[in-house]
Amino acid sequence: MMDKHKSLRHLPGVDHLLELAKTDHRFSDIPRSAILDAIRQALDNTRKELLSGIDPSTTDETLLLKAQIIATEKIRTRLVTIINATGVVLHTNLGRALLCKDALDNIKTIAQSYSNLELRIETGKRGIRYEAVEELICELTGAQSAIVVNNNAGAVLLALNTIAQNTQVVVSRGELVEIGGSFRVPDVMSKSGCILKEVGTTNRTHLRDYETAVCDATGLFLKVHASNYTIQGFTASVSLKDLVLLGKEKNIPVMEDLGSGTLIDFSKYGLPPEPTVADSVRSGADVVTFSGDKLLGGPQAGIIVGQKKTIDLIKKNPLTRALRIDKLTLAALESTLKLYRDEEKAIREIPTLRMLTLPFEDICKKADLLFKTIKETIGSLADIDIADMNSRPGGGSFPELNLPTRCITLQPRNMSVSKLEINMRLSTPAIIGRIEDNKYILDPRTIQEGQDTIISSTLGNILANK
Ligand SMILES: *Cc1c(COP(=O)(O)O)cnc(C)c1O
Repeated sequence: MMDKHKSLRHLPGVDHLLELAKTDHRFSDIPRSAILDAIRQALDNTRKELLSGIDPSTTDETLLLKAQIIATEKIRTRLVTIINATGVVLHTNLGRALLCKDALDNIKTIAQSYSNLELRIETGKRGIRYEAVEELICELTGAQSAIVVNNNAGAVLLALNTIAQNTQVVVSRGELVEIGGSFRVPDVMSKSGCILKEVGTTNRTHLRDYETAVCDATGLFLKVHASNYTIQGFTASVSLKDLVLLGKEKNIPVMEDLGSGTLIDFSKYGLPPEPTVADSVRSGADVVTFSGDKLLGGPQAGIIVGQKKTIDLIKKNPLTRALRIDKLTLAALESTLKLYRDEEKAIREIPTLRMLTLPFEDICKKADLLFKTIKETIGSLADIDIADMNSRPGGGSFPELNLPTRCITLQPRNMSVSKLEINMRLSTPAIIGRIEDNKYILDPRTIQEGQDTIISSTLGNILANK
């Protein structure tokens, strides 16, 4: 029987292994701190194995080999590019919006130089960072005033805290949504110091529900875009316009969390009508919040627009400083927003808009090219076909909407579909497709220029078991 404690005592020391690693070419490209950490981890793992009754090798060579594997993994870059073949345009797990070229260029320009981030060049006095985009946002939305913070969750938190701390906020039950787990309206409400006052029912809320909820403690009417779900059937909700009228009558401010928020009317491009930010502003809401990296197609940000007196209060809230955006976000946002002055240009140059409005004929052309490239590479290693399917916009925009698309479907001859999916995901760059009806699906809508050949050669290698 193995003597656990004796083996533990015979484990080499950290210093001894570190000394060996110094002259070992396998460690020559790895920084000392990573080697040290890896050796400690390798020793730790071996110690645990010994204690649990496993009898691992404890030679210097084995431990160095373990440390090398750990160290190599440690120094690998973690945030890497991947190929999105899911067809989901705004995929939160895959980084949401791709930035347009102007935004990328401006990030580079601003990042490598000093800038007037908080300087008024004309007077030499201190400036305010979000002034770079405030006028532009007002021009595009018709709002009196605007401010930008870290993301829309922050925008909602900040607005609620400013307008309605310690008061009751009236919200329809049907709008108490959870967006991706970490943003739930009731939680944000309590964190911002507000008291949630639910009204109506899950499927139906009427104006009289808001009206009867009003009391001395009421501080705000809030509307929340349902984003990632729809209520169908016997439903009723109150329009922002009607809520604003009631607010005026009762002297209660009205806020709308639009979630995605769009500056253009997508119904012109064959998508369902979504209220634009300008629509909400026109309805007379005191405050409207929306994301920078959903339908807008810009950097992660939370944009708050509304009446000057309310936005002025928000600007003075100390939380604003904690939620402020950095100069790279500001640079990207300004460039993205500028494109919206010419809608056609925005559709052409902002990747999110381009992918969402891509005409079906163009998708078919992309699908044909991808089909040919793959077919040439993989020959008969898999059954390959083309099928008309649906893409999803994602990002809590257009829930339930199916965008007609044309996909490549694959059924390998020598491995399971799930094995193919896993191997595609584990390749470099990772290729993310999906499985439907026991077929591996590639949706060209979200596949970018130049990625066809990467996809086909990766498929070729995997299917040939290389
Ligand atoms: C997405 C969303 C949020 C959160 O926005 P982030 O920019 O991801 O912080 C908040 N409210 C609604 C309704 C949303 O759809």
